Amino acid sequence: MDCYVVLGLRREATVDEIKRAYRRLARRYHPGINPGDREAAERFQLVSEAYETLVDPERRRRYDTQGGAAPPQAESRFAFAGFDFSASADGTAAYSFGELFADALHGSRSREPERGADLYLEVALAFEEAARGARRTVRLSRLESCAPCGGRGFLAGPDVACATCEGRGEIRGVRGHMVFARTCPSCGGAGRVRHHACGACGGEGVGAHTGTVTIDVPVGIADGAQFSVAREGHAGRYGGQPGDLRVAVRVLPHRYFRRDGDDLLVEVPVAVYEAALGARIDVPTLEGVAWLRIPPGTQSGRTFRMREHGLPTRGGRRGDLLVTVRLALPDVLDERSKALMHEFAERNPGNVRAGLHT
Ligand SMILES: [Zn+2]
Ligand SMILES: [Zn+2]
Repeated sequence: MDCYVVLGLRREATVDEIKRAYRRLARRYHPGINPGDREAAERFQLVSEAYETLVDPERRRRYDTQGGAAPPQAESRFAFAGFDFSASADGTAAYSFGELFADALHGSRSREPERGADLYLEVALAFEEAARGARRTVRLSRLESCAPCGGRGFLAGPDVACATCEGRGEIRGVRGHMVFARTCPSCGGAGRVRHHACGACGGEGVGAHTGTVTIDVPVGIADGAQFSVAREGHAGRYGGQPGDLRVAVRVLPHRYFRRDGDDLLVEVPVAVYEAALGARIDVPTLEGVAWLRIPPGTQSGRTFRMREHGLPTRGGRRGDLLVTVRLALPDVLDERSKALMHEFAERNPGNVRAGLHT
């Protein structure tokens, strides 16, 4: 067997990676959660042998240089023959059943509730959506509480002999000619347990799921802002609270609106005669057209404030709409319009740039 393949590791795997791979696989194939499943038992043995070979630097070096099958090792055969889970007690590096599943077997008594991790998400919104608030349904993968065990990692069952100590209440380890015994950590010495690890989640109490979550984006949110949706992050372990879903918002630019805090800015073209004579002009707002009266003699670049036509805020009041007018000339003047302009010039002599020459 190839120890690296068995553990699903690269040749360069670190000791931490080896330990993690072993823990993950051992929790899946452990005979304690797969009673009577011969395939799982064989798989577990392979995983354990591969682990024992790679976790010991000296044995790993020999394995890497000589290649091929792992040299048989008295210790590991002793440790796993008939699944004697006293492995760690006799000095080998494997975890005992009790250590692998201590959290699950003891439920919340042995492990503190652990809050789930926060989950991060970016949402792109159209300008109007950000202004008015939006509802988004997003697809995400996260750890969710295991349904069969209710997130506890263990299932209550009939009173059975403890798998860790096989009902003896103590674990024996052999070192040389000495036999050590210690109280079984899984059953606390009772030899019987009423809990067994949940097979669906391997005792983790959580599992990865992909699903959809509906998010309400608050009104008036700005580009680059963040908000949290409580309890929609990863599920907590051992009955802990779930983490939060943290949403970063990107707001796409609008064709003609810009924002300044809660105020909305827009530039509106006006015709020469509207600016000169005054007019009631149509102005775009988030809700459609509104009307603005500009006085006679309105200069290009002048800004008018339309109260409460800006962005909605969470407080309920609205910002203002700031309308800046720009003089727009027709592209082409016909002969009659040109004549009128000449007449207009003659009737209004004087240099409009006079103020620059004083
Ligand atoms: Zn026990
Ligand atoms: Zn479970």
